[in-house]
Amino acid sequence: MRRLYQARDRIEAQLLLDFLDRHLIRSVVLGDFLAGAAGELPADICPTLWLIDDQDLDRAHEVLARFLAPPQSSLDAAPWHCAACGEQIEGDFDRCWNCGRARPE
Ligand SMILES: [Zn+2]
Repeated sequence: MRRLYQARDRIEAQLLLDFLDRHLIRSVVLGDFLAGAAGELPADICPTLWLIDDQDLDRAHEVLARFLAPPQSSLDAAPWHCAACGEQIEGDFDRCWNCGRARPE
């Protein structure tokens, strides 16, 4: 087994576990069972993802990077200008917030 990633909490750990599973990478979460007593334990005891199969390590790091990356839209989306009113719109939006016109193709 190889240690892959220490999650912030059990929710993130579970999300990542599912995400890895969808990529056919088997992993387990350890440390989770201590969460109930976390107040009395050192702060570094958090749910940690472990790879069951060491051979998955490279692929798991790729999947992990994708999991941690911000959503694609906010990376790719450049600001655009509304054709109707000239307002500059954040790339995440498909519609002008000022006049409601849709983003040009
Ligand atoms: Zn507009």
